[in-house]
This record gives sequence, structure tokens and C-alpha cells, in this order.
Amino acid sequence: MSLHEACGLFGICSTEDKIAESLHLGLFTLQHRGQEAAGFALARGGEFFLYKDLGSVEEVYRQGNVRLRRGQLGIAHTRYSTAGESAAENAQPIGLHRQGRWLALTHNGTVANAARLRRELSEQGVVFQGSSDTEILLQLYARAPEGTSPEERLARLAGQVRGAYSLLLLDGDRLIAARDPFGFRPLVIGRRGADWLIASETAALEMVGARPEREVRPGEAVIFRPGREPEARRFAPERAIRCCVFELIYFGRPDSVIFDHDVYQFRKRTGCLLARKEGSAIDLVVPVPDSGVPAALGYAQALGCPLELGLIRSHYVGRSFIEPQQASRLQVVKMKLLPLRSVLSGRRVALVDDSIVRGTTAKAVVELVREFGAAEVHLRIASPPIIAPCFFGIDMPTKAELLASGRTLAEIKEFLQADSINYLTLAELAEATGVGAGLVPALGGFCDACFSGCYPAGSLAEDDLFRGATCRTPTCKTR
Ligand code: 5GP
Ligand code: MG
Repeated sequence: MSLHEACGLFGICSTEDKIAESLHLGLFTLQHRGQEAAGFALARGGEFFLYKDLGSVEEVYRQGNVRLRRGQLGIAHTRYSTAGESAAENAQPIGLHRQGRWLALTHNGTVANAARLRRELSEQGVVFQGSSDTEILLQLYARAPEGTSPEERLARLAGQVRGAYSLLLLDGDRLIAARDPFGFRPLVIGRRGADWLIASETAALEMVGARPEREVRPGEAVIFRPGREPEARRFAPERAIRCCVFELIYFGRPDSVIFDHDVYQFRKRTGCLLARKEGSAIDLVVPVPDSGVPAALGYAQALGCPLELGLIRSHYVGRSFIEPQQASRLQVVKMKLLPLRSVLSGRRVALVDDSIVRGTTAKAVVELVREFGAAEVHLRIASPPIIAPCFFGIDMPTKAELLASGRTLAEIKEFLQADSINYLTLAELAEATGVGAGLVPALGGFCDACFSGCYPAGSLAEDDLFRGATCRTPTCKTR
């Protein structure tokens, strides 16, 4: 079984050795990127400390007494994988003692050809601690001869690995930040006095008082040492950059800037674009909280229609999306959201959400909003229909589970029991990214495989295309 991970990374390189609290606060800000496991690695001189376990950032930080640990270098990770594959040994960072020094690695993304690489490495005698694809990356990095530079190690790794990887590595007295040549997942560098901080999202940098400086570039490794200027090294040639557009649509925090896009403003823009083609009479706009809120605001403002919080969200219910059984998923959505009768009663409601994956959320909220008195329910989705799985780190299920895969708009509307449904088109999504509509089907600079079915050329190895991932775009080179 494969692992789908969309994780949070946070790292510090400091001239002082009291980094534990910032490491904790930074990672805590990235809790939305993974709630299953967390871990911290700190290094100072030859000293090395690693603690990781299943649980929230808070829990793991407390259980491990990480607060008491000293280090000038630190990396931390919060993990999100699908249910059933959650084992403590798959938590990160993953550590290894090799060639007289400690290595530790954290990874955001997915190795698409993990099965083959694992088989090959096992045949060569590598013994793995767990079943995660991240350990493959660490083994590939570690196996070069002593004295090999980090960028050379990463170049070798890049030659073998297909898929997505934003990485933070502790390698002896260095902290290394690296992004795969496509730049699928984000990674951004910030500064606070003499300290350097690296995070999946700018919100985590801002939270610890660091100023975002720049992103790690695709195919680039940036090497940090306490008290020194960072050194940027290229380990792979620039490719056509393919940042994950779903980071902007759903995954990232609205208070982050990701791939140089202000996430909040981007989401509002998608809502405006939806409003532009509104054909139904709407009394009221209701966001599906939390992720649908910015798009709903943009939509309501553009339409000049009132926005009301017709669905109140409980913050004490866990992740509905990754519940293993469909029945329990539906139950959790209903536990999470309670409609307001006084707001909805007798009104023609536009329900705005950021995306539909399996359709669990949309089906539940349409039903709920009707139950609580809405006269009409019009679904407005601020992204295109998701038709193809992701092999680059977003937890998209198989094609068969994706609501929009192989269904017409009329069938989707029927299934969800909505009075009408409207998605964003790929062209409108391109417009929202500011790239312009001329580049459809592939958004320039972005990976849109989940919407287009077209995987970036060279991002997957031909024989590793699992679960029937073939491209339906005639001009596509991954076919
Ligand atoms: P669905 O319920 O259709 O399977 O998923 C769509 C809903 O889950 C939307 O409300 C969206 O905000 C959220 N969502 C979309 N993608 C993801 C994801 O990768 N993880 C989680 N936890 N939620 C997601
Ligand atoms: Mg949502």
C-alpha cells in the first residue's frame, strides 16, 4: 500500500542553543498539515536528540520533554498519512548514524516510485526501520562515500526518485533545506536576527517572529551553519516548475504566502470568479467552514449578496476526511457542522466550499442545510472537478472514490441532491493564479494533475504508474 503524505516541516539554524520553544511553536502553526504524528530532532556539536511519536504536536512535544533539550540545529515534522498506515516508526524525523555523524531527515511529499526503490535497496542489503517512503530518501542520501557533498548526494537521489520531496536534513553540523526539481511542495526560508528558519509555510515563520526571505527554489539545496551565511547550491537542473495548486486551494493556511501567492487573496479571487457566472437567484451565501470561508467571502462580495454563517463548526471534532469508513466519515461531518435554522429557513442558499473530493462533505451539508429549512441549496465549488489521484503528496483517493471521476455534472448534482452545482473551470483557476488562461490545460508553473489528469512530464516513472494513472490529455508526454 502506498503512503500519501502532506506534511509540515519546520527547521532552525541558530547561533544560540535554545531553539526548542521556537521549533515547537513553528511546528504547532503547521498542525493543519498533519495531525497523526510529530517529531523533533536537535543537534549541537556532536550531541544529537530525536523524539517522535503518534499524536499532536503538543502531545509529542510534552511527552518527549523536548523543551529541556538544547541544540543549534533543529528540524521538526508533523505527519499526515491515511489511516491504517500510521505507525510510530513511520513518524519523522528519521535518524541514522553513519560515517561518524548523525543524519536526520524530514520529508513533505510522496515518492511515487517508492516500491521499486525499496525493493532495490533491500536487495542491496539495506534494512529499513519502517515502511515509509521517507526512509528511502534518507538511505539514498546516506549511502554515498564519505566526503561526498550534500548537493552531490541530493543529485544522486534526484536521479533515482520520482515524485515530490521538500526536505529538511540534519547532516552533522549542517542543516540542509531542499526541494525537488518540480517544486511540488512548498518550503520557505525566513530570518530572525542571526537565526535562519525554514518552514512549509510563511505563517509558521511569522508566528515565531521571523521575516520570510525567499522560497527554496526547485532543484536547489540551501545549506545552513550557525553564524554563517547560507550557501545555495543547485543539485538538479531547473525543470518546468510544477507547484501544487491544491496548496493554494485547500491545503495551506489562509494567512500564508505560498509559491509567492497570498493564499487568502487567491481564495477570495476563486470566489469572485465563481460569482461571475452565477445563473441562479440567491438570497444568501453560506461558507462551508473553515476552508470554504475566503472563497465564500469573495463570492458574496462580487455578487453583492449577504454572507451568513449558516453552518457553525465545532473545533473539537477530528479529521472527517481521513476516516477509513465512509459511514463514519459522514457521521463525523455531521458532528462537526451544525446549521442555524434562523439563518437558513426559507432562503435560497449558495453553499460555497473549496473542493469536492469524495463528496462526503458536500452530500452531508446539502442534506443538513435542507433539514434546517433552506428552500433551495446551490453548491458552488471554488476549484475544478477532481478527476485523478495525486502521486505528489496530497491525500487524494483512487479514481473510483473520486466523485467527479467518470461522472457528468448532472450526475454529480443528482448524487449530492443539490438544486444546482457550479465548479470553477481550469481556465478560471489559471486566471485566479494570475498566470492567465492561455496555458490551459496545464497551469503554467503549477501541477494541476488532480483536475486535468495530466501528470507533469518526467515526474513519474513509466513502470511506476500505479492505480491506472494514465494521462488523457492528447499532447501529454506522461501518457
Ligand atoms: P470530500 O468530503 O468531498 O471527500 O472532501 C472535500 C472536503 O474536504 C472539502 O470541504 C475540503 O475542504 C476538504 N478537503 C479537501 N482535500 C482535503 C485533504 O486532502 N485533506 C483533508 N483533511 N480535507 C480535505
Ligand atoms: Mg472543508
